[in-house]
Amino acid sequence: MNSTLRRTWAEIDLDALAHNYRTLRKRIGPDVKFLGVVKADAYGHGAVQVSRTLEQLGADYLAVSSIDEAMELRSGGIIMPILILGHTPREQVGRLIEYHITQAVTCEAKALEYSEEAVRCGGTLTVHIKVDTGMSRLGYICDGAYFTTGAQGICRACALPGLQVEGIFTHFAVADEPDEDSVAYTRSQFDLFCRITEEVEKCRGERFAIRHCANTGAVACYPEMCLDMVRPGLLLYGYGEFAEKLALQPVMTLKSTISTIKIYAPGTSVSYGRIFTTDRTTRMGVVPYGYADGFFRYLSNRCQLMTADGPAPQRGKICMDMCMIDLTDLPNVLVGDEVEIFGKRNSLNEMAALAGTIPYELTCAVSKRVPRIYRQNGAVTERELLLRF
Ligand SMILES: *Cc1c(COP(=O)(O)O)cnc(C)c1O
Repeated sequence: MNSTLRRTWAEIDLDALAHNYRTLRKRIGPDVKFLGVVKADAYGHGAVQVSRTLEQLGADYLAVSSIDEAMELRSGGIIMPILILGHTPREQVGRLIEYHITQAVTCEAKALEYSEEAVRCGGTLTVHIKVDTGMSRLGYICDGAYFTTGAQGICRACALPGLQVEGIFTHFAVADEPDEDSVAYTRSQFDLFCRITEEVEKCRGERFAIRHCANTGAVACYPEMCLDMVRPGLLLYGYGEFAEKLALQPVMTLKSTISTIKIYAPGTSVSYGRIFTTDRTTRMGVVPYGYADGFFRYLSNRCQLMTADGPAPQRGKICMDMCMIDLTDLPNVLVGDEVEIFGKRNSLNEMAALAGTIPYELTCAVSKRVPRIYRQNGAVTERELLLRF
């Protein structure tokens, strides 16, 4: 094994990704398109590798947050449609057209900008209209008193030269929350989305080819909201409570090794800040995984890493490049042995809960210095290492 891999690495199981994709595909049925959300380097899994796999599996669309992320995929050989969910500066519109990248249009000012620039370039920009139905982030406002003006604004955008309006979409705020209030809110968002879409289609005299709104929460809890296309992210990567219910598999397993083991007498303080003191003769392992790799320092003294013989409590403050784990009760665990930070045996969901956050934040936080190792059909297919020498 390469020496870089003796430190800390992330195994990306592309078979698990394929399993998740096929399971979700079956769930939504054959007539619904599948957009895989691969923004933020595919939630830390590697956008090009994940997209390539989705392309091979027959997914219909990808979504990213910016033109840089879209261009990374095009440079990586991805040819399937890509939707940019965020803003693109007007001077980049020519590149969007050249590389067949679809842009979200979130308000009138952007619609005009994109249209003018597309006309100036002499091309046609494919766009999806974003409607704000209650997320209060991006999108045409169209609730309450704004219904008519919102619909009219979208109609005007649809008629602009240089734009080809392929789709319309919205985003849910609480589709993943089960309480009554959240269910009512999600239903009202969906209802408004359907009404505004219908209104615009009436005045436009044309149906939108792709209407979409279903994120992970909606795919899991509201199958009636799939419309023409679904847009899951987290589910695809196999994390969160819904992934567990649908028997999806976690795609990333973050692993490290034990680099050193030392024996301390009772009463020895461990690491910065001295927040942990041994109360017995303690066999302490040093693991080369710290906050610069994406370990949340807040988890210091609060979590466990998984050895082959079971969980080892993490002790003392997590450092930049290292942390300590207690191996006293695991006498067969030796220097050089692997530990799982999270993955199939040490649940990411539980670690996220301990850190007071969501699984998304933990996979996105796995830093660039952690190499990603890709596995497909049981074999290592690619190693992406950040080597600087
Ligand atoms: C990130 C994102 C998604 C995917 O969300 P998940 O909760 O991971 O399924 C879908 N749509 C939009 C607009 C997003 O920004």
